Amino acid sequence: MIKLALLGHPVKHSFSPLIHSAAFKASGIQGSYEIIDVMPENIEDKIKELINNGYRGFNVTIPHKVAVNDLLSERNEIADKAGCVNTVIINSDGTLSGYNTDVYGISSSLSDNYSNPLITGAGGAARAAVAALADKNIKNINFLVRNPDKCSNMLRKIQKFYPDVKFSVKDKLISLESFDLLINATPLGMTGSFVDLCPVERELFETANKNMTVFDLIYTPDKTNLLKVAEEYGLKTINGLNMLIRQAQKAFEIWTGILPDYDILLNSLKTKL
Ligand code: NAP
Repeated sequence: MIKLALLGHPVKHSFSPLIHSAAFKASGIQGSYEIIDVMPENIEDKIKELINNGYRGFNVTIPHKVAVNDLLSERNEIADKAGCVNTVIINSDGTLSGYNTDVYGISSSLSDNYSNPLITGAGGAARAAVAALADKNIKNINFLVRNPDKCSNMLRKIQKFYPDVKFSVKDKLISLESFDLLINATPLGMTGSFVDLCPVERELFETANKNMTVFDLIYTPDKTNLLKVAEEYGLKTINGLNMLIRQAQKAFEIWTGILPDYDILLNSLKTKL
């Protein structure tokens, strides 16, 4: 029996238990994947509990992706570059190994070529976006954030992995004209208390380049306010569903050695979509 969990807050909206149950069923492995809503101040104790109770591993989501770094004994190269993890293996000696499968999830959601992306947010998913974009050889990455100093500090730490990338950080924009990709890596628009919000002012879309793609990492609701506005302006949109499935596929493979079929995982969500 393989025991897995998702640690986050808020986390009850997550589709991950359905996806991983389908992956267990399809691969013939006995296992469980439970949601654990945990506040930042309790994350360390909760992880100790999982270690003591024989869990194989866990995912971490908002807001723990960065904090959990301090508890790891090692990170793989992609997680190192992103500076945060979303997937953790509990080793037999109780130590923790960290991986970042969000990078793959983001990368596999972006099929076109881009040269001047804008990211909103500077947390775990934004770091994964930097790693994914830099791996696609993008040399300019821009941020729109509420706390530029925090974002710049984060970028200083990861710049060594991306010496050729030029980062720009702003807390206000007057135009979207120069961007060919907008990635929302904030929770603004997500089901729950953020649902009515939008990370970019509606009026700014008047200035958007018609070729800009808008990728919202959020998958519930399937169409956030941001994606609705982008559609009104005739822009190409992508939501976080493909990313969700892709990151889960890789995480399941890390825990079990088996890569589950994409369509089986997608089908597991048919009652939700
Ligand atoms: P995180 O580490 O907590 O980062 C959230 C970021 O959003 C932070 O930079 C935070 O700003 C910013 N933010 C929060 N509230 C804000 C507000 N009211 N106004 C402006 N900025 C605000 O979370 P995360 O793990 O990166 O997740 C971010 C989003 O990506 C979530 O919606 C999550 O559901 C989504 N996501 C989707 C997938 C998928 O598989 N589709 C995977 C991962 C994440 P500060 O830095 O100032 O605190």
